[in-house]
Formats: sequence, structure tokens, C-alpha cells
Amino acid sequence: MKKDFIFSSIDNLKGVGPQLSKYLKKKRIDKIKDVILNLPYSETDRSRIYKLKDLEIGKIQTVKIQVKKLNFPRIRNLPNRIYCEDETGKIEIVYFNSREGYLRKLFPINDFVIVSGKINYFNKKYQITNPDYVTSLENQDYVAKNIPKYNLTKGINEKKYRYISEQVISNLPKIDDWLEEGFIKKNKLINWNESIIKLHTSKDGKNNQSKSFRRIVFDELCANFLTLSESRKRVKINKSPKIFTNKNSEIIKKNLPFNLTNDQEKVLNEINQDLLSNKRMFRIIQGDVGSGKTIVSLLSILNVIKSGYQCALMSPTEILAKQHYILIKKIFKNENFDIEFLTGKTEYKLRKVILTNLLTGKIKLLIGTHALFQKKINFNKLGLVVIDEQHKFGVKQRSDLAKKGGQECDVLLMSATPIPRTMMMSLYGDMDISKITEKPAKRRKIITLSKPEKKINELWPFIKKQILNNNQVFWVCPLIEESTFLDYSSAKKKFEIINKKFPNKVGLIHGALKSEEKDKILKKFLLKKISILVTTTVIEVGIDFPNANLIVIENANKFGLAQLHQLRGRVGRGEEQGTCILLFKDGLSKNAIKRIKVLKDSNDGFFIAEEDLKLRGFGDLIGFQQSGIKNFRFADPVIHEDLFELADKYVQDLKKTINQKKFSFLLKLFDRAEIINTIEN
Ligand code: ADP
Ligand code: MG
Repeated sequence: MKKDFIFSSIDNLKGVGPQLSKYLKKKRIDKIKDVILNLPYSETDRSRIYKLKDLEIGKIQTVKIQVKKLNFPRIRNLPNRIYCEDETGKIEIVYFNSREGYLRKLFPINDFVIVSGKINYFNKKYQITNPDYVTSLENQDYVAKNIPKYNLTKGINEKKYRYISEQVISNLPKIDDWLEEGFIKKNKLINWNESIIKLHTSKDGKNNQSKSFRRIVFDELCANFLTLSESRKRVKINKSPKIFTNKNSEIIKKNLPFNLTNDQEKVLNEINQDLLSNKRMFRIIQGDVGSGKTIVSLLSILNVIKSGYQCALMSPTEILAKQHYILIKKIFKNENFDIEFLTGKTEYKLRKVILTNLLTGKIKLLIGTHALFQKKINFNKLGLVVIDEQHKFGVKQRSDLAKKGGQECDVLLMSATPIPRTMMMSLYGDMDISKITEKPAKRRKIITLSKPEKKINELWPFIKKQILNNNQVFWVCPLIEESTFLDYSSAKKKFEIINKKFPNKVGLIHGALKSEEKDKILKKFLLKKISILVTTTVIEVGIDFPNANLIVIENANKFGLAQLHQLRGRVGRGEEQGTCILLFKDGLSKNAIKRIKVLKDSNDGFFIAEEDLKLRGFGDLIGFQQSGIKNFRFADPVIHEDLFELADKYVQDLKKTINQKKFSFLLKLFDRAEIINTIEN
């Protein structure tokens, strides 16, 4: 048996019939490799043989007993009973629904047998009902031991699954390890075969810091990073360098009411290097809300247009696209090139004109929503695509995007979701990353306060004052997961309460609204026709609400730190001081107090994201679930942080010498091979 065995169907195993196969597949155990990766989560200790006088009711125990008498009542529904004893007492083994012949074979009169199962006590007698194991003394060793406990389901019991997993483990082909022995030793790992065997047969499977476990984590991470690196290779193709001088961007910079921060300059420089190079740019700018990503992208756009290309800027929503359009018109007012705006709603006639002028190259910059990427839209010479506020694209969508832009087209993404380093590697390893950590100098820190919900009435005078001062307020209602309806009803209730206090000054936005209706209300808020916006968390990232200075977040413990930080970033973008009030139900837990302290003390999205990760774990972080990358099965970015670094470095070092064949096993094992196949060149 060779590697093929590992990727063959479980149907080829002994003891797997159609029924069991169906149950296993429901548990996503389809191939032998899935059995390999399905680790036990605990063990059942059947090792000790108990005397009957020492039995403990309710426990799973193993006994060695002599069969005395079998009883098969001829009345339906009455169980069959086998009376047994040892020198210290008596016990009955009880069977429902089992055939006489079978039991007579299993329990020969006067023989000693090993029985293991849950001990019951009924009518003053010990019983084991439908025992897990019954065997003759020769096979005692098979039963009387620690037996790995797997997560099982209906139709699969321990004995059946054990038969499968033991078959797989004992037939495990010897794999030529893709890690060199020196590397394994140096990094205190263990070779592949040994690790798999230990994971299934010792306590290693349950100890996520054991050598064997760390080995499988390392493999999983390598598979992920290799996928990203492979995708990167396919995206970073050759292109012609863009030729420009800094003259034009210097003029724009001079006319800005502020100086760029050092970080903005640094990132601009990184982008310019990419534009000037002969490899396609594939870069993401990561910067906190308000760190000033837009202007950086605009200066890059200018450079690309000046070098004779067209550019496209895409935003996730129409309203954000429109804000960009208005801003860009203002910033580029002295430039004499055509800038157009296109969304799904653009009228047919205008749209036709735009399409024609794109094709002739007359339009230099097109701003809009997803509509920019419809098939019918063709550019004359597209040189750069900028995508704002994207954190929902996975590897595949990103590579599709690069492909759509065409060979000469550089790609720049922007995201206001700071994420921890481990996650950055896992999600964006295919891209170059530019970070903006520095905030524009004059930006004031948002004051963050916490309050018990009981004292909500103390807020009204404060809000009233804000409104009198012409300020605006966000009111964020708790998001009730998995129920848009409940979200809606709780937000609506709050809306009614607030609307009573401030009639005609309140708007409501919730997840069930169509995007057009949402945009309408947002516009009303932007135009200051209403002062308070009650929302679930659907407030768009990226939209500038210069007059919103207060945000109230209800049930704040429901949100992660990073999310709270994002939310409060919606206020205080203008001249006034921004305030964020976190409302909590009842008393605060220790954890909640810790979390508020982090928020109060820090304004650094990256730091907050790291803390959030420590407090809540990977899956809860914004962006991760929608990222299109499967959750890690073994790797934990907090516990295995060092392995993330190690695997990242390992794959980086490989880049030039990557030997597909050597790693194809690994990629297949962790289902990454298919992802790679769908990433087109
Ligand atoms: P984001 O990174 O969240 O997209 P924006 O690009 O929208 O942030 O910038 C937020 C605000 O900060 C804008 O009003 C912008 O004009 C302003 N801004 C950008 N850079 C600077 C700077 N260096 N100094 C002062 N204000 C700046
Ligand atoms: Mg932005």
C-alpha cells in the first residue's frame, strides 16, 4: 500500500458497508485521510479489571466474569439475560434485541469472559446493558486498555469506529517525509508517520502542545501558506513598468490642507516601487479607520494616469463610491482628465456613453461599485484597480480580480480591518502588505465610557445637548445572531423609544433593509435631516460622517474588541471630540472589564486586534469567517503562534525552490490542492 491508500475511499476498508459508509460521510469522513485527521479527543480507560465488589455505578468498567446461566424469555420486549459471577459477587449482562445463537456463542457456559461497559444497578443487582465489548480471555488485551475516544455520531459506536481507525493506522504507508530530518530535530517536531500514530494511540492527540500535535499543526499551516504562495506566483506576472515622475503628485500634496504622515509617505513609496517594477502589483493597505488610506490611493491613481493608463476605483456600496467620487473631483479639479461614476443604477443612455468612452480611453478614471466588473465593461488600457474596504474576498476571488484587470493591471486593495499578524499571514500571504499604523497628528482620541444599561436614562440629557449643538449620534443595537428578524425587532423597539424622546429626528437601519432603502436613510443622515441613527452593526465602513460625534453601543459585551473599535471609529472624524458609550447589561464580568480597559487605553487597531484574538479566538474576528479560507482544524494562532512564524518562514525560504511534487501530498491532505487548481494563471 502506498500514498494512494491515504486518498482512497473509506469504502475500501474492511467492515465499512453502505450503511456505515453513509454515517461516516455525514461526519465528513470520506477518504482514509479523513480518518487520519480525525483525532481522538479523549480516552476511555478500560484498562483495569475490576472485582465485582469494587464496581462503581455509572462508570465504564471492565470485568472478568464466569458465565453461569443464560435466560431467553419467550415474551416479546423482555430482554435476554446472562447471569455471571466472580469470586466477589454477581452481575447480569442484559441484552435488548439480540439473537439467542449469537449470545450463546459469546457467553459459553462456565467460561470466563471479559466484559466492558457502563455499570448499572437495578433491583439490587449489578448490570451491564448492551456492553461495549465482550471477549474471551485470549483477547483480553484488545479490550482492557485505554481506548481512544472519537467524536462519533448515530450509527457509529466506539467498537465500529475503532475497527476502522485501527485498520487505517496499522496500514499507514511509510511516507517519505517532506521535512528534512535536520529541520525536524532543530524545531523539536517529529516525523510524519510517527506523529500520526502517536496522535491516535497516545495522549498526544489531546495535547495541542505535544510534539505530534505541533507537527500536524505545522503541516496544516504549511499547506495554507503554500496555497497562498502558489496563488501569489500566479498573480505576480510580468508587466511593463509604469513610467511617471513625482511632479504631479507633489502638486496635489501641496494643495492638501495637511501634510501626509510618515506612514502615508512610506506606503506611497512602496506602491510607487511596485508601479515602477516589471511585476504586477498585488498589494493591500491595512490601516485603521481614519488613518488616511484614500489620499494614498488617489496619489497612486494619479501616477498611473500620468503614465498613460486608465484606473478603476471600486467601493462596496454606492454611497461610499459617491463620497469618493465627490472627493476625487475636488482633489483632481485642476487635472484635465475625465472621471466618471458608474453603478448598477446608472441610466442606460449614460451608461452607453461611459462604455464607449472607456473603450476609446477618453475616461481615465472610473469610480463605482461592483458594476465596474461586469463583463460588458472594457477598458482601453487599464493600469490600476483600487478596491476600497475589502475584507470579504478570499484567495480565489482576489486572483480572479487580478485576472479580470488584465496583464498590465496593478491591483491595490484597502482594508480598515486591522488584524493580528498570525491572521495576516494566513489570509493575505498571497499579497504584499502595507501597513499604516500612525494616525494623522491632529486626530483626537475618542473618549470611551461604559455604563450599565439600567442607567440609560442618564444618557438622554447628554444626547439632547449633542443634538442642540448640531452633532449627530449613532445608536448601535445588539446584534442577535442568526436572526435578522430579532435584530430588526429589537432595533425597531429602540427606535420607537428614542423617536418618542426626539420626534422626527431618528432614523432606523437594519440588516433586512434593501440596500437602496438603506442608502436613502444614510443620505438623510449625511444631509443632517435626522440626528440620530439607530442601527444594527450594518453601518458602512469607510463612509465619512463628519458630524457624528457620539456613538452608543448597546449590549457591548456581545461585540469583539476589534468590532467595538471599528464601530467607535465611525465618530469623531470632524473637528469635534468623539465619544463612545458602551452599555452593559447588569454587572460587568472580569473579562468585560479587561476588554473595556483595552479599548479605553488604546487607539491602535492592530494592538486591539491582537488583544481581541487573545480574549476571543480566531473564528470570532471580523473578516475571518467571510474570508473564504477554511478555519484551521488544528492550528490555533494564540497557542501555536511560534509555528505560524516558523511555517511562514519555511514557505518563504522555499519560494524559489518549491517542488510541487514533494508538497502535493500535503496540499491534498489538507484539501488545498483543489483551491490551487481553481486559481488560474
Ligand atoms: P480611511 O483610512 O479610514 O479610509 P480616510 O482616507 O477617509 O481614512 O481619511 C480620513 C480623514 O482624514 C479624511 O477626512 C482625510 O482628509 C483626513 N486625512 C487623511 N490624511 C491626513 C493627514 N495626513 N493629516 C490630517 N488629516 C488627514
Ligand atoms: Mg476609507
